[in-house]
Amino acid sequence: MAKQNRKNNRQMMQRSASLMGMFWGGLLIFIIGWGMLSDNKGEPVETDWSVIEQMVANGEIEQINIVNKEKAEVELTEEAIEKYRQQPEYKNIPESGPIQLYFTIGSVDAFREDLATAEGEAEQRVVVKYEKREDRWLNIIGGLLPWILIIGFWVFMMRSARGGGGGNVMNVGKARAQVYDKENHENRVTFKDVAGMEEAKQEIMEIVDFLRNPQKYRELGGKIPKGALLVGPPGTGKTMLAKAVAGEANVPFLSISGSDFVEMFVGVGASRVRDLFQQAKEKAPCIVFIDEIDAIGRARGKNAGFSGNDERENTLNQMLTEMDGFATNSGVIVLAATNRADILDKALMRAGRFDRQIDVGLPDVKEREAIFGVHTRKLRCAEGISHEFLAKQTAGFSGADIANVCNEAALIAARHNKKHITKEDFLAAIDRIVGGLEKKNTVMTAKERYATAIHEAGHAAVMWLLPESDPVVKVTIIPRGKSLGATWYLPEERTHITSGNLRQRMSGMVAGRVAEQTFLGTIGTGALNDLERTSNMAYAMVAYYGMSEKIGNVSYYDSTGQRDAFTKPFSEQTAREIDEEVRRLIDEATDEARTLIETNREKVEQLAKLLVERETVFAEDIEKIFGRSAHDERKAAETPATEQTDTTEPSEGAPAEPAAVATDEPQSEVAEVAATE
Ligand code: ADP
Ligand code: ZN
Repeated sequence: MAKQNRKNNRQMMQRSASLMGMFWGGLLIFIIGWGMLSDNKGEPVETDWSVIEQMVANGEIEQINIVNKEKAEVELTEEAIEKYRQQPEYKNIPESGPIQLYFTIGSVDAFREDLATAEGEAEQRVVVKYEKREDRWLNIIGGLLPWILIIGFWVFMMRSARGGGGGNVMNVGKARAQVYDKENHENRVTFKDVAGMEEAKQEIMEIVDFLRNPQKYRELGGKIPKGALLVGPPGTGKTMLAKAVAGEANVPFLSISGSDFVEMFVGVGASRVRDLFQQAKEKAPCIVFIDEIDAIGRARGKNAGFSGNDERENTLNQMLTEMDGFATNSGVIVLAATNRADILDKALMRAGRFDRQIDVGLPDVKEREAIFGVHTRKLRCAEGISHEFLAKQTAGFSGADIANVCNEAALIAARHNKKHITKEDFLAAIDRIVGGLEKKNTVMTAKERYATAIHEAGHAAVMWLLPESDPVVKVTIIPRGKSLGATWYLPEERTHITSGNLRQRMSGMVAGRVAEQTFLGTIGTGALNDLERTSNMAYAMVAYYGMSEKIGNVSYYDSTGQRDAFTKPFSEQTAREIDEEVRRLIDEATDEARTLIETNREKVEQLAKLLVERETVFAEDIEKIFGRSAHDERKAAETPATEQTDTTEPSEGAPAEPAAVATDEPQSEVAEVAATE
């Protein structure tokens, strides 16, 4: 990609350089020509006063012209010219015209005095004229300067417009997508080159399958997603994954960055989108990859008139139109990458657009080991370098960081003239990257890691021990996005959520903070997200679901979304009661979590230590520590048919917002319940 870019740039520069060359060359010829045309044949000769004095005496001077009070130009009589041209010294003086000789005068007064004396002695009179003259060259250039500026500016505009559009000024509306064709085997990326990311690969496999074999799906009348959104921090291999899809399916791959649509000219973004999809349709079946889609896909402002971002909105609208416009079976699949799915416009995520979201997180130990495997393939390493060891040293590194480590290690080895890359070189490279990474990436100290582990172990333990909460899948202390670690659980498909269920979920959420208090004695800011969610859930229980006895079966939920924030539908008195009830629910949840953690002190600590060691701990290991989960026990005891005893409407009728609080991240199958920020 970079190579092609450079080539384009070079061509562009060459073209404009030759244009500039032509321009300057033309100007030079013009100036020289001008100078030659206006010159007479012959060359005036410089002389001094003593010579002129003699000439005055001989009556050979027609006229003296004083220019700018410093230069005297002498015009000789015809006879004198004739005479002097015989002498070798003056043989080149002009035959006619106003100057044959010139000399410099000290001052006009002194000159006049000298001349008067000479005239008096010779009884001759000489005509003297005075002239103020500006430099001709300066004049010419001064006259041309505005034109030079105008032409220069025009050339500059041409150049920058070409830079934006590729081709000429008329092409600004064209999309500059990088195209990788199926013929281009050299750059082909396949799933083999992408280490780890098993879940993401699996999700995306379906797309590959469709592109390879569209008939199978069409015959069944099946619909394939038009787009998928790859979400994850930078350098985790999103671009690579998209390329691998194209490589596996053996279809062309069009890549463009979201920021390429953003240009200062109005309407350019939208027309580039149109052009991109036009190109894609011509190449179908193919993959369009839009990197950094947040550059255009940011949520549209409510008061568009004031935001000044109309241009971006137009671009986004055009994108939505295009995505709606092509039929599902046209074979164009749009993959987009972002590291901020939360700020994207919800319209992009709707069915028929990017209806599939694939999370690409930072790799865990095992995945890092595999990535080291991929990137050391091309390196000449010393015997016995353990990828597992390297993976353990690189917590929090992205795939790109690891690629960087491998490259850096090779450079370090070369600097020391080694034949093979040794473990020391890798360690030096890691140190170097960590030093450079600390600011941009979360690389934790041992103490921070332990604190995070305690926090997550708290969540996991309480969720494990409460029968009504959702089953824990894994716990991790790998930093991901803004959070330092996470406890993952599989939300059960419930149609009927009881207050007991919500209460136990709240206990699970506050458990991180409680564990910090119990084991570390200090509390951190990491629990912000947990506390926010707990509070929201408690508020929803009291004010929306009527789950508090004190408030009763009243719901203040506003499903229309019309109510503004300032008018509350309840009295001051009720507001106070709601606050009290919310507090009571949270306190109860906290107490429950504390009791559980304190009675299982050793086990929680054991889990935290395991987390520090392994970074990610799965359900099987938790089971080894805590025994069978309370959730499994409950499931085993339950006889499925007897569950539904009342006639409440299932969750369809339930307000959307609180339900989202309860299940969190509904798009992904596995949701994260507890994230420490
Ligand atoms: P993103 O698009 O997420 O910012 P890229 O796809 O550009 O990241 O990845 C940058 C580089 O990092 C890739 O070219 C590759 O060398 C390396 N890399 C990232 N993830 C992986 C992975 N899972 N396996 C192998 N290499 C990876
Ligand atoms: Zn937490």
